[in-house]
Amino acid sequence: GFKCGIVGLPNVGKSTLFNALTQTAAAQAANYPFCTIEPNVGAVAVPDPRLDKLCEIAGSKQIIPTQLTFVDIAGLVRGASKGEGLGNQFLANIRECDAIAHVVRCFEDSDVTHVEGGVDPIRDIETIETELMLADLESLEKRVVALEKKAKGGDKEAKEQVDLMNRCLVLLREGKPARMAKVSEEERKTFEGLGLLSSKPVLYVCNVEEESASEGNGESTKVAARAKEEGAAAVVVSAKIESEIAVMPTEEQKDFLEAVGLKEPGLNRVIRAGYDLLRLITYFTVGPKEARAWTIEKGTRAPAAAGVIHTDFEKGFIRAETIAFDDYVANKGEAGARDAGRLRLEGKEYVVADGDVMHFRFNT
Ligand code: GDP
Repeated sequence: GFKCGIVGLPNVGKSTLFNALTQTAAAQAANYPFCTIEPNVGAVAVPDPRLDKLCEIAGSKQIIPTQLTFVDIAGLVRGASKGEGLGNQFLANIRECDAIAHVVRCFEDSDVTHVEGGVDPIRDIETIETELMLADLESLEKRVVALEKKAKGGDKEAKEQVDLMNRCLVLLREGKPARMAKVSEEERKTFEGLGLLSSKPVLYVCNVEEESASEGNGESTKVAARAKEEGAAAVVVSAKIESEIAVMPTEEQKDFLEAVGLKEPGLNRVIRAGYDLLRLITYFTVGPKEARAWTIEKGTRAPAAAGVIHTDFEKGFIRAETIAFDDYVANKGEAGARDAGRLRLEGKEYVVADGDVMHFRFNT
């Protein structure tokens, strides 16, 4: 599955946030059969109200949401790229993730030491980003020389790689992350294949004091502006509030959320933002047994989407009976949608859209 690594300087609230995520996952595990939890890995359900609607219309016995995995990556300090702290291990852990959730401290609390002095999320962001960029710079400078020889020898793949590498090197030498490189759709796979840390999509998670949980504060506003500038995303949470909600019975959550001015747990926003950041979308399968959500990358064609359920579905793919979510709801289910001519028969080339309700036909 897709993995989002949680990083940040010490004492910013990473563990508090990660524990809230895993406690939420543990509470979910009673309802969903598939949630696995390891010490630093937590798979949580992606909240999606559309599932409730589908379940209600089809009278499904069970709802099975799709999930997103978070990995707690502790140990980043200034100098990590030079092997300080758990530097190398840390960078290797990030490399395995598809996206980065970067927790930044936006709360004042004189009882919680700040490793860099005072609260200043922009400085903290730059500290971590610098370590990622230094690691990338070093790795690219090592690799590009040999590859240039290969490219000169006429290797087309090497040429494309070298081209991308050089564009990234220009940015990195200016102190800019590789994610700012302009990459065409055709180059995207090769770009991702370079395995650069500063090219991973970033979500800034602004950890604010309880009073600012719904609106954010001055510091989180600065982070949001910065995120916009560099094509990253940002969300506001209070890790402290989230850690309280995570262990609360569902009945009590509603009142508590209302009291602190929230419509839903902030974790939902973190999970959804992570999902969007990874360019992930959801399609559904609906029947009497279950209403279920499945995760695919934007741009996935029908056979590969079917393959997420089972490899046989992909191998023997014939067609996909497809109903857009809105059509499914407006026509009160599959039969109604069929009668209204809203059920489409889609073939191998069909690019699955977010919210499609699908039924795959395949040869065994
Ligand atoms: P980590 O080192 O980034 O994993 O940070 P922790 O989650 O261990 O938090 C460090 C300290 O900050 C702990 O004492 C937490 O209780 C405290 N802390 C975390 N989040 C908040 C918060 O939102 N507000 C306040 N006041 N303290 C927090």
